Amino acid sequence: MNYRHAYHAGNFADVLKHVVLAALIDALKAKPTPFAVIDTHAGSGCYALEGKEAEKTGEWREGVGRLLFPDVGPHASSGGTLPPLLRHWLDGLLSLPGNEQGLKLYPGSPLQAARAMRANDSAQLCELQPEEATRLRELLHSDKRMHVHQRDGYEALKALLPPKEKRGLVLIDPPYEAQEAEYRLIEQAIKGALVRWPTGVYAVWYPIKQRSQVQPFLRWLGHCGARRVLRAELLVHPDDSPLRLNGSGMAILNAPWKLDETLREPLRALSRLLAQGRPAEWRLDWLLEEGAAPPPSPL
Ligand code: SAM
Repeated sequence: MNYRHAYHAGNFADVLKHVVLAALIDALKAKPTPFAVIDTHAGSGCYALEGKEAEKTGEWREGVGRLLFPDVGPHASSGGTLPPLLRHWLDGLLSLPGNEQGLKLYPGSPLQAARAMRANDSAQLCELQPEEATRLRELLHSDKRMHVHQRDGYEALKALLPPKEKRGLVLIDPPYEAQEAEYRLIEQAIKGALVRWPTGVYAVWYPIKQRSQVQPFLRWLGHCGARRVLRAELLVHPDDSPLRLNGSGMAILNAPWKLDETLREPLRALSRLLAQGRPAEWRLDWLLEEGAAPPPSPL
């Protein structure tokens, strides 16, 4: 377990993940009844962009850094203003205490969720790495809605689902240190989770290096047992090199109604803003549509 998110916080992959997270929480807030967020791989919750880890890679500058000045520089967005979802998400980051003088702190998924949730919503946050879990606990200790568990997030789903609110979201955002094996862990976890909580929304982040590495998982999603599955991807490099992160995706199982429409303009804008030396590619499509016959199982 060597992965530390501090090196990667705010990079182009985090931007996609967290904009989709914001859209999902907005959709859950459309109903007044409380919802639960279950974050299986939560991280430490907040990252210093001027800290030595973030400075070492500088990844955030090619990610959220690009959104700070969308109207200047070589990556200027032709239309000028950001789509409302992106504008609102960025304003949320900039209004974080500590960011009064500009973006110094990048909130991770638990803190972004905490800031978007309402008083009666709740979150269960799992983080296996002891130091990261301790930091997360310290960050959120005064917020009674947020519950930190230092444990394996996949295992925890067995105990945490279904949540008492009976509606909400599971975010699965592993480090993929185990590469191919991680996909099998996700599939096992989702299979069990859908039995315990068939109506939950599940959002899975995945890296794209070589397309062939992710293809079996995407095929599996097409018959995973969810009602529908939306896929949102952003590629800043061609997906043919196993050595670097070329792009990433979010697969959203039981996606809320019209989520595809909500994400279309933000994805288009991100593809302009986050392009690296060539136009970025994006995809937004249904891997599984409600009422459609599932594709034949490859097994
Ligand atoms: N979701 C966070 C965010 O968006 O801000 C980032 C999470 S980071 C990509 C993955 C985290 O998962 C790391 O902090 C790592 O220590 C933790 N981790 C790795 N394996 C785990 C497991 N089986 N259960 C829970 N956490 C795990």
